[in-house]
Amino acid sequence: MRALVYNGPFDVTVTDVPDATIEAPTDAVVRITTTNICGSDLHMYEGRTGVEPGTVFGHENMGVVEEVGPGVTGLKVGDRVSLPFNIGCGFCANCVARRTGFCLTVNEEMAGGAYGYASMGPYRGGQAELLRVPFADFNALVLPEGTEHENDFTMLSDVFPTGWHGVELSGQRPGESVVVFGAGPVGLMAAHSAMLRGASQVFVVDKQPDRLALAEAYGCTPLDYSAVDVVEQLTDATGGLGVDRGVEAVGYQAHDASGDEDPALTLNQLFASVKATGGIGVVGVYLPQDPGAPTEDLKNGRIALDYGLFFSKGQTMGTGQANVKSYNRELRDLIVAGRAEPGKIVSHELPLEDAPRGYDQFDKRVDGWTKVLLKPAA
Ligand code: NAD
Ligand code: ZN
Repeated sequence: MRALVYNGPFDVTVTDVPDATIEAPTDAVVRITTTNICGSDLHMYEGRTGVEPGTVFGHENMGVVEEVGPGVTGLKVGDRVSLPFNIGCGFCANCVARRTGFCLTVNEEMAGGAYGYASMGPYRGGQAELLRVPFADFNALVLPEGTEHENDFTMLSDVFPTGWHGVELSGQRPGESVVVFGAGPVGLMAAHSAMLRGASQVFVVDKQPDRLALAEAYGCTPLDYSAVDVVEQLTDATGGLGVDRGVEAVGYQAHDASGDEDPALTLNQLFASVKATGGIGVVGVYLPQDPGAPTEDLKNGRIALDYGLFFSKGQTMGTGQANVKSYNRELRDLIVAGRAEPGKIVSHELPLEDAPRGYDQFDKRVDGWTKVLLKPAA
């Protein structure tokens, strides 16, 4: 089968690899209809991780069940499914508690497994024609038949639940104000989620005009950090009190207004702009053991936080991988009901063979390349 393979920094190709097959009775094989490039793939693409050359990328996958193992009872050939990027077993202590991002069975060492991702287990990615899905009964979410809502449903494997998770971690309640740092796919999904959850106002911070325009299209207030003092604007807009809730959707690759990387910037701006006793949800990645990290400290995930400010304001903060399976069923139903429109962020639909161009343009943050979908069957 054809698959996108990592050769080294900034070098990916589409090539022939052995077909995905059933390896355990509880596996299914899914024929991929849509698989997305994610901001998380760029950490590997840029050579910032220890990912091995030869790895097939792709953790945002959906498709149609092609084959099921003898132990699979809830799925049948022909079912249209979304696959959460986290692979869970369904029976460990964390999966039972709905913390599927921290499955103890699939990846004991790191706690948490994913398709095609550095240090998250041996699972091949889905930027390919076929994908092996472990513990398929537990992991696959069945979607309505047909092809309707394909570009909305494809956001269910990662960015929509991840954005929702960021808002959930912040503790947002209806009527509250929310600020989201980052208007990449994850930040835009957090902003859309906050609106769906009844926010009174949602501010979205970035500097990319195309992404800020999408934030506006979701009913949010855009703030360009390269043009204004973000903390001052947020403080003024909330009568000096600060925003009720904040979401971090940038990660350690945050840039300052002059374009230099400053990994602690957005968290410190959240401490400063969220109100005393407010809540913060962090879904941007602060990657430990990053060989490409500019400093030894960052390699170990250590960054210079204004912890005293966070403490004195009595804020709360939640972090980590999204537990996709905790949310994807309800988010699917919001799409079916016409209430949620996560597919609005899609900028490009490319055949799988064009994936290297998609990586190059999305990585360079070329204006207009917001979310790239790959279609192996096209
Ligand atoms: P992305 O790189 O497309 O988006 C990041 C955005 O942040 C860009 O638009 C960039 O312009 C903006 N930005 C940079 N500096 C900024 C600043 N100082 N203030 C405001 N915005 C700034 O990536 P994405 O796909 O949206 O992912 C965002 C983060 O979420 C990444 O770190 C990714 O690895 C992570 N992620 C986490 C999970 C999870 O489960 N926790 C899942 C998916 C992705
Ligand atoms: Zn992703």
